[in-house]
Amino acid sequence: MKDFPARRLLLVHAHPDDESITNGTTMARYAAEGAHVTLVTCTLGEEGEVIPPALAHLVAGRDDTLGTHRIGELAAAMRALGVTDHRFLGGPGRYRDSGMMGTEQNHRPGAFWGTPVDEAATHLVEVIRSVRPQVLVTYDPDGGYGHPDHIQAHRVAMRAADLAADPAYHPAAGAPHTIAKIYWNRVPRPVVEEGFARLRAEAPDVFPGIAAIDDVPGVCDESMVTAEIDGSDVADAKAAAMRAHATQIALAGPFFALSNGLGQPVLADEFYQLVRGTAAPDDDGREHDLFAGLAAPAGAPGARA
Ligand SMILES: [Zn+2]
Repeated sequence: MKDFPARRLLLVHAHPDDESITNGTTMARYAAEGAHVTLVTCTLGEEGEVIPPALAHLVAGRDDTLGTHRIGELAAAMRALGVTDHRFLGGPGRYRDSGMMGTEQNHRPGAFWGTPVDEAATHLVEVIRSVRPQVLVTYDPDGGYGHPDHIQAHRVAMRAADLAADPAYHPAAGAPHTIAKIYWNRVPRPVVEEGFARLRAEAPDVFPGIAAIDDVPGVCDESMVTAEIDGSDVADAKAAAMRAHATQIALAGPFFALSNGLGQPVLADEFYQLVRGTAAPDDDGREHDLFAGLAAPAGAPGARA
């Protein structure tokens, strides 16, 4: 087995750019601390729209080369975050972006949404058994906002975590491994409200419009949040990673817009709900480290001092 650092974090996302928007702070922080950070992206995001007019020809309805272009954007984002282990589920292009819910792309051959969960999960089991992460981060069952690929990424991640731990499942894919803690991405509503208030006060005219709070994936009641990662030290890295996804994201200081042109705050701090494993909260009732409570060998690379 490859000799990985002591602390290993796996994140499963639907499209290139989701990881930087949702977990850029978390990935940058753990990479900087010497943990092993593995990103698995399930599709190339081929059905995305394109913001820069000069690149408009990449879209699915014209050249259909956006997926290839986004491989490069993702690689640049990972350099900004200091993450070296990033992979596409089953290899680049194995599963195609399914488009928004209800579109005909949902039913296209190879669309991730139409792939049997267990088939896609097999590829993730191989990653889990080889990297042996203690912590998995993915979406809630609604995928944060109902996009088919996000819902499917959730299903595949949760299924793969179960299968990877089952000694009877596919022994050739490596020794069984149980992930100690599983988190879903969450954003407490008051944090989003404060971010939008800042946007309205400081940059009301920067974007053609302003998004609605419920457009932000994973918005939830504050009581559901169990862990919070402070982004103050790595805000520049998160911003640089988001900027690398130039076909998808227009950044303006601490605000951004997707291709719909609706402004949103960049959320530097990131939030999670622990759904499997034992929480080890600080005095404020929240964890501030996703590895909290897990034993790491003293002095091992990636162990916390
Ligand atoms: Zn996405």
